[in-house]
Amino acid sequence: MTSTSPTRILLGPGPSPVDIRVLRAMSRPLVGHLDPLFLDIMDEVQELLRYVFQTSNRLTIPISGTGSAGMEAALVNLLEPGDTAVVGIHGAFGERMLDIAERTGARVVPVRAEWGHPLDLDEIEDALRRERPRLLALVHAETSTGVHQDLKNLGDLAHRYDALLVVDAVTSLGGMPLFVDQYGIDVCYSGTQKCLSCPPGLAPITFSERAIQRLRARGRKVQSWYLDMSLIEKYWGAERHYHHTAPISTIYALREALRLVREEGLEARWRRHELNHRAFVAGIEAMGLEMFVAREHRLWSLNTVRIPEGVDDQRLRKDLLDHFNIEIGGGLGPLKGRIWRVGLMGAGSTPENVMLVLEALRESLRVQGIHCPSGREAAERVYHA
Ligand SMILES: *Cc1c(COP(=O)(O)O)cnc(C)c1O
Repeated sequence: MTSTSPTRILLGPGPSPVDIRVLRAMSRPLVGHLDPLFLDIMDEVQELLRYVFQTSNRLTIPISGTGSAGMEAALVNLLEPGDTAVVGIHGAFGERMLDIAERTGARVVPVRAEWGHPLDLDEIEDALRRERPRLLALVHAETSTGVHQDLKNLGDLAHRYDALLVVDAVTSLGGMPLFVDQYGIDVCYSGTQKCLSCPPGLAPITFSERAIQRLRARGRKVQSWYLDMSLIEKYWGAERHYHHTAPISTIYALREALRLVREEGLEARWRRHELNHRAFVAGIEAMGLEMFVAREHRLWSLNTVRIPEGVDDQRLRKDLLDHFNIEIGGGLGPLKGRIWRVGLMGAGSTPENVMLVLEALRESLRVQGIHCPSGREAAERVYHA
């Protein structure tokens, strides 16, 4: 082991590569978490988060903690013992939502889809009609499978049955179209280390007025003191009440990462993710490999590829790391050994990385005796179309 880490090319399910501007922001001297300078930074972060979430929600802040803290904050603030929740599950992160929701003492009704497929809207509506739950929760971008869940009309659907809509946008925020207000999402959370290309440690979250009313109407305190939004909002709002010490350096980093999103433009950023995804897929298919998810349900940020018969998955990923400095992800749970997860997130979503990972995969397959044609030309055609 050396004392400095090598420069890895992070093309897995996160963390994603971080721009040097963000790393530099993290190395700035600390100020206090109630310093007027820092309060200005907090205001800017909130404003930029409203932009990336496409919302005017007042309560839009970064939770101290990774994406899972955002998931937990969403669920523990809205649910109480005796409530009912419907959770859509089409992968590992839906299962995590179920686990967290059950720990609140709520009765949780899962609506499942086979891993690799999106949830069925009719089944969701049936569950809403039957259960009349407090909330419907589901994952927009299932990082364990590479499936995109269409969110259009889901807000209307949930509200028709008086349920709040909670959406996990950890792997979509900043990488795929997401319109919190337009879609009628009541609580949406994300993480910093995926398409926002910031180090892990914060979970951006936004609460609609409807969700805030629910919070105010609770019969008992939120089970988690640390994640209680009614306490946290007093620090991020006008009162500036101390709750816990804000992770100053990580918030510096997030501000810089969000400024980068704003400079690029959200729509341009989505289009970049789409284009690099399409080039990657063209390359994979030209190599004779197969994507795991049907074309119309694929994420742009996280690409799942079927592992060909006879390939040693562990060895291939080790070769990518050792010889190319590239990290990609393996499959989770039932997909272990069956798929690779190639993240093209944030600063990692570039034509250079697409070409590099295609060639590195080809070479690493070759050493295992599997000879594929090059995917380069097919990928290049996508860029030059
Ligand atoms: C990564 C991820 C999470 C968890 O985020 P952590 O930062 O690992 O806590 C939750 N949901 C989805 C969809 C994710 O991809």
